[in-house]
Amino acid sequence: MTDLTTLGIAAIRDGVRDGQFKAREVAEAFNAKVAGADALNAFLVKTPEHALAAADAADAARAAGETLKPLAGVPIGMKDLFATKGVATTAASKILEGFVPPYESTVSQSLWNAGAGMLGKLNLDQFAMGSSNETSAFGNVISPWRRPNDTAPLAPGGSSGGSSTAVSAGLAPGATGTDTGGSIRQPAAFTGISGIKPTYGRCSRWGTIAFASSLDQAGPMARDVRDCAIMLEAMAGFDAKDATSLKLDVPNWEAALSADLKGKRVGVPKEYRVDGMPAEIEALWQQGIAWMRDAGAEIVEVSLPHTKYALPAYYIIAPAEASSNLARYDGVRYGLRDLPEGAGLQDMYAATRAAGFGDEVKRRILIGTYVLSAGFYDAYYTQAQKVRTLIARDFERAFEQCDVLLTPTAPSAAFALGEKQADPLAMYLNDVFTVPASLAGLPAMSVPGGLDKDGLPLGLQIIGKPLDEQGVLNAGLAIEQRAGFTARPQAWW
Ligand code: GLN
Repeated sequence: MTDLTTLGIAAIRDGVRDGQFKAREVAEAFNAKVAGADALNAFLVKTPEHALAAADAADAARAAGETLKPLAGVPIGMKDLFATKGVATTAASKILEGFVPPYESTVSQSLWNAGAGMLGKLNLDQFAMGSSNETSAFGNVISPWRRPNDTAPLAPGGSSGGSSTAVSAGLAPGATGTDTGGSIRQPAAFTGISGIKPTYGRCSRWGTIAFASSLDQAGPMARDVRDCAIMLEAMAGFDAKDATSLKLDVPNWEAALSADLKGKRVGVPKEYRVDGMPAEIEALWQQGIAWMRDAGAEIVEVSLPHTKYALPAYYIIAPAEASSNLARYDGVRYGLRDLPEGAGLQDMYAATRAAGFGDEVKRRILIGTYVLSAGFYDAYYTQAQKVRTLIARDFERAFEQCDVLLTPTAPSAAFALGEKQADPLAMYLNDVFTVPASLAGLPAMSVPGGLDKDGLPLGLQIIGKPLDEQGVLNAGLAIEQRAGFTARPQAWW
């Protein structure tokens, strides 16, 4: 019999529906994989009983002759940034240790409503701040990938590194991610899987622990483009509980998948050719351009002149919003409370926050409060907001000439754990290709394009017009079909 954990979301859905195997067998197989992969540190909480209950419901529905729900029998991993009722949720921070939400996030609830089950809560960079998973308070996730003849642990990307690891190591057929400046796309690229950040407002943020509210978006991470489309359909949709949620129907993205790009124009932004970019990344980009042409698209060079200001603007706006969002962790309402002997309220706030937040989170709060302070607000925050508008305008102009944009996802393959940790600027540079689309709220996806000289995955990014997830998915599918990317990490864990 086939190892059920080699199957993706579509294959599991179809196999359960057609009676090739039971949903329970699928859940048991993935639960066993998860139980045997502690060395990767991808899961903060395991919930095998949740996956089994959803599977049993799917099997019972089938036995009763009911129409199955869209994700019936599909177990997934849940990034631990989504509040899950009755299941510990920490955002990988000590300050939320012991917090068990009495409510369910809209995105996770939507997935359960679609029939999915949960394998567990996935590790991440603390409060989703990071690019390597090294800021988790509960130990970093270790990528399942290794360089040849080298046991040095590699970064799985961040912040959704638990999600990328779970999917690429075959511990889950799909996982949720969140993307504020690249946290779905960069970890997908580092681990050879696909992931899409939809248009800002497609997925509700309600019950998702906030990092930078004007940027945060949930999205799926899965083995291929079709699986991303299926999962995104279940995650997206209007939610009255999120004021920025878009009141729009969810398209049937899976049904409209097409790798035929005839009549489409693919833009190649010249400003994404950054100094010091490895030749392998440039070569992959050229290969991607050739694949787009082969799929019938016309290639046009476009200009996004404010690209070079995107990273500095992001690292002002995201910390500014984070400093405000994270003010709620005060030792009164959630998680950790540090109440020194004889302390007053202010002392408790200070002690709790000093003990509960990690260094990167503190760095962001300090930057955020600084750029929002009376003396510096105009010089930094207002200026960054103006830059954000200019970046959005760059995209609007570019999309007058093309339908989607093609770029590399990240400026390098996965780096070794520890390699960039001491240098925040080097770490932030990872986001150079992903933050512009985040600032403009555009849908963007990473699909695997090939391997570097060390056999590590490299990703290509497609950025689309607002609400054109379909165009993004279709261009992704065209790449996927031509790249023929089948590489998988060799199990060492
Ligand atoms: N790496 C970026 C940061 O640290 C993006 C994180 C994210 O998208 N959540 O802010």
